[in-house]
Amino acid sequence: MPQMQALAERVEAWLGGATFEGFEPLGFSGLKTAVPSPDELVGRTLTRVGRRAKYVVLEFSGEPERRIVFHLSQAGRVDFEEPPKRTKPKGSVVRWKFSGDKAVLVREFGTERKAGWWVLGPGDDGPLATLGPEVTSDEFAEWLRTSDDGRRVHTILRDQHTVAGVGRGFADDALHRARLSPYASLKSLSPEERERLLAAILEVLADGLERERSRTGGLSANKLGEHFTVHGKAGLPCPVCGDDLKRVSYESHEIVYCPRCQTGGKVLADRRLSRLVK
Ligand SMILES: [Zn+2]
Repeated sequence: MPQMQALAERVEAWLGGATFEGFEPLGFSGLKTAVPSPDELVGRTLTRVGRRAKYVVLEFSGEPERRIVFHLSQAGRVDFEEPPKRTKPKGSVVRWKFSGDKAVLVREFGTERKAGWWVLGPGDDGPLATLGPEVTSDEFAEWLRTSDDGRRVHTILRDQHTVAGVGRGFADDALHRARLSPYASLKSLSPEERERLLAAILEVLADGLERERSRTGGLSANKLGEHFTVHGKAGLPCPVCGDDLKRVSYESHEIVYCPRCQTGGKVLADRRLSRLVK
């Protein structure tokens, strides 16, 4: 959430009030909708830029309502161009042109081709339709306090259909801050532990947003450097107790945690590794 929220704020500050002048599809087809056509946006004013989960939403003036929604996935990037370039860098998806001699280039590192964009009309929420409540909403807070969901908290926090806007990096950091095991199920948590978890989630996201708001321009660098507290830092000392952070593979990705702070000293079994050993 923090990276896309701050990006949405920068796009609005840079382009709010500008007129959409056209688009250049580049490279693979990142456009996920056939109707309405992006050509219908030409001449409309960009009135607002928002965010929902990991999606950035560009709202335009005029009737019927039109929005562009885009998604960068892990390796997607955004360049602000002033004046617009004519180049087609590797991994380019689309270039949107705006008045004031400005353009936004969406591109993607690597070969996954997961970045994409949608043009949506009234009543069509496209990829936003199946998202759970935003992590900062009262709806999610109430759900977290009362749910008897038996899944692991880490799994829940990464499931965008349950809660939108956390992701695995902040899930690692939130569980560490809340001193809870990444393997804890939500229904096993006491009311006090749930409050601690909720506070920790909101704190790590607020810290992340503050850091992201110090960026300028688009989101261009190859490595974005998200500065997590424990995520991606296995083997380094825990910033709270100084013991080594551990990693455990789970559901095709890696969780980082501190045994002393989170699991009463217990090292979590790595299922993938134990299968290989057998
Ligand atoms: Zn620790």
